[in-house]
Amino acid sequence: MSPSAIAVQAMGYLLPDLPVAQEEGVCGLCGAPIHKGLTPTRKFEPSPEFGAHKHLNPSRGGYICAPCAVVTSGASGFTTRFSRALFTPTQAYRLSSAEDVAWMLTQAEPPFVAIFNTRSSAHMVWQAPVSYSRHEFGIALGNVCATIRPDAVLAAHGALSRLCDVSNQALQSHYQWPVFNLRMYDDLVDICRLIPTHERVLRDSVDPLVVADLRTFDDMNQAERWALSALLLARPKRGGVLGPFERPPILDQATTSAVEAN
Ligand SMILES: [Zn+2]
Repeated sequence: MSPSAIAVQAMGYLLPDLPVAQEEGVCGLCGAPIHKGLTPTRKFEPSPEFGAHKHLNPSRGGYICAPCAVVTSGASGFTTRFSRALFTPTQAYRLSSAEDVAWMLTQAEPPFVAIFNTRSSAHMVWQAPVSYSRHEFGIALGNVCATIRPDAVLAAHGALSRLCDVSNQALQSHYQWPVFNLRMYDDLVDICRLIPTHERVLRDSVDPLVVADLRTFDDMNQAERWALSALLLARPKRGGVLGPFERPPILDQATTSAVEAN
């Protein structure tokens, strides 16, 4: 299934009644195959305001599939109120708070499509990867598609807790975490960095445990730093211990019509 088909099914939207394709091709957005005489399609010419031109499928023939007609429709809410969410073929989940992201990292079961809108994004679903593994999954995060290894993020969470003890002891300080720029809803640049005074102490250390913990922290990509930020912001937790986050943040299915008359 394409990411759009999964998201539309998760939200319980019916597909619009569209004419079948007159030629073979692929959907100009999600890239799903379009078969002559079989696949319902709609003509799609991006408007000047359309902000995702560089993500469009280069071989597109100017047509999109029915699920993409739904996810790009303003009425469906996928570019607005459902633009921070995780969709499985049977259920939609909220992905709007730090706790929701912690749930995704520790509990979400593939296959799923995860999208998280930041201020620089709107069209998310059709660009998102479909994830089939809990150990390394994709997410459309702002205007990038990224990979997150939950085990690496959780390992970094533990490493950071130990590093904090070391630098607090050396600096006679009482920081909860030795990092700054923890945020989720903004650009990802410079997200979740070590505080310079703490970093100096830690980088000077020859303790093999500190060296190994720093490597675990440094090894994360930008999306994983975003995920770690969410873990550090999420409640409940006690000291450096992460909460269970077992309650699924279920998103109610939409009941309104998904596509405007066109
Ligand atoms: Zn499509």
